[in-house]
Amino acid sequence: MQARFHSVWMQLPSKLQDALLPHIGNNDFPAMLTAEQAKSVKKACDFDDNTLAIALLPLAAACSLTPISHFNVGAIAHGESGTLYFGANMEFTDVPLQQTIHAEQCAITHAWLRGEKKLKSITVNYSPCGHCRQFMNELNSGTQLEVHLPKQPPSTLGNYLPAPFGPNDLGITTLLMDPVNHGYKLETTDKLVLAALDAANQSHAPYSHSYSGIALLGKDGKIYPGRYAENAAFNPSLPPLQAALILMNISGGDCLAVERAVLVEGKNNKVSQRNATQSTLAALGCSKFECYTF
Ligand SMILES: [Zn+2]
Repeated sequence: MQARFHSVWMQLPSKLQDALLPHIGNNDFPAMLTAEQAKSVKKACDFDDNTLAIALLPLAAACSLTPISHFNVGAIAHGESGTLYFGANMEFTDVPLQQTIHAEQCAITHAWLRGEKKLKSITVNYSPCGHCRQFMNELNSGTQLEVHLPKQPPSTLGNYLPAPFGPNDLGITTLLMDPVNHGYKLETTDKLVLAALDAANQSHAPYSHSYSGIALLGKDGKIYPGRYAENAAFNPSLPPLQAALILMNISGGDCLAVERAVLVEGKNNKVSQRNATQSTLAALGCSKFECYTF
């Protein structure tokens, strides 16, 4: 079992421990439970979807990186496929707080990067902040997305975000998590550049059309892609670097061990990720940064 789960493991009910151990006991546990795995755990524990997601929150929160706040938030995104994706808040020292990732953004982006196409619900251990409510309003689940909190009746995003402003107000019909391919190409055989290009082609930027993607090569030899997720209210947009760091951290990788990073964006983009990405990567100890344009 990965060390990050040790401290909360003994707090879990023994029945849940027994049912989870075949999955989480594996050192390369990807911080998600497939629909089949979730089904077997629910059966063994006599849990429904909601009870299982709430029971998993301490494990999700154990994935937090909180060197500034020391306040760990966990979230579980429940995909329409039935897969459960862990998410946790992530903070980075030596950069502005705007670079912080909230647990809901983490779980949602985790699901999106693993190929999930729509979410049924999100479960979180604290009430979603205003920033996250706006971020979630960009999703193709709309205001019908179920929001679950411990000791609270199930509700919907519509209830948490009354009188919303979102993509519909701007005539946008392709929503966050809708599969897209912008079709850009680059002549290269470099795997990292191709992974970043693929991420840019699947990025969500319906307001600025400034598509961008990144790929990080970890010192563990693994490639972590990240796609830009733009928001109707602009500021809650999630940069591609944050998306890649989400996948890296949640997969058990070390965000302070990036060997090489490649950003791919349009040369005529009105919104460029280049300088912000480079400075955040430098704060994370990575100086091997390249930017390619299409
Ligand atoms: Zn939040």
